[in-house]
Amino acid sequence: MFIPIRCPHTHCPAHRDPVPGFFVRQGFYRPLCRSHPVPRFRCRVCRRGFSRQTFRADRRQKKPSINAACLDLMVACVGMRQAARVLRVARRTVERRFAWLARQAADFQANRLAAARLAGPFQLDELESFEANRYQPVTVPVLIERRSLFIVATAVGPLRRKGRLSPQQRLRRAEHEARHGRRPSESRQAVRRVLGSLRAAAAPAGPVVLESDEKPLYGRLGRELLGKRFAWRTHSASARRDRRNPLFPINHTNARLRHFLARLRRRTWCVTKRREWLQAHLGIAALWSNFCRGITNRTGTTPAQALGMVPRRYRPEEVLGWRQDWGALSPPPPA
Ligand SMILES: [Zn+2]
Repeated sequence: MFIPIRCPHTHCPAHRDPVPGFFVRQGFYRPLCRSHPVPRFRCRVCRRGFSRQTFRADRRQKKPSINAACLDLMVACVGMRQAARVLRVARRTVERRFAWLARQAADFQANRLAAARLAGPFQLDELESFEANRYQPVTVPVLIERRSLFIVATAVGPLRRKGRLSPQQRLRRAEHEARHGRRPSESRQAVRRVLGSLRAAAAPAGPVVLESDEKPLYGRLGRELLGKRFAWRTHSASARRDRRNPLFPINHTNARLRHFLARLRRRTWCVTKRREWLQAHLGIAALWSNFCRGITNRTGTTPAQALGMVPRRYRPEEVLGWRQDWGALSPPPPA
């Protein structure tokens, strides 16, 4: 039986401070997309009506039943068009649902992180991809908690194409830059965004340990953002990338992201058109990887569970169930 914990109208006093008995029950209605009747209520403070649906993240959707399957497909390395074919819906429907999944993922993760105090150590590395074509590379810094493989933050920033270029490629780059302007390299801004998340997410006392390769930028930004608490441990990037490598957890995480996301695969047709969508997709992957998937296939314990953030592993339906756009006042995840 559903009991509303607060008035869903954000301007009503019973939204922030609900008193017992702030609502009265007002029957049910039968939506077309659900088999069960939905209970209705009226707030006695603001006199406005609402229903159980008002608390659901999928309110106002015509096909809420595709949400969980859509999340599964988004981390199953298929493109948007193939996802639409599998779900038997229009491509546009998948695109809109993808944007909705990304908002829900970001809010869900932010609400759990706001209450968490992670002890670390943390690991950081950047993976590279590109948007639209090879002349528009992007950098993707990924920050994890080392022991649980919890993805704390990701970011996407543009890079200028570098490396060894043939005379032909040099010419094409010049043409591209004549048309679109010189592409900025914003690795610094992107890394700053992910490391900045540690100011709120890291435990309030003790050192914040970051392990990474020897790129001086990480050390500089870490000291700038976290001050004396920042403890930087570097490891050679050229060491063999196997399980004995101290950076195995982050290397493994980034390899998994390339495996889950069609647009991060190398030599793919599904290359991201715009980096904003890659960022959205990374958020969806983080939600699934942190809260729905076991750290390994054998354990079944999720990263969020290992950190004591949530009591158990969640099914996609559960992380997509209740709205998360009220910050700390959002409905809690299922017990
Ligand atoms: Zn109210």
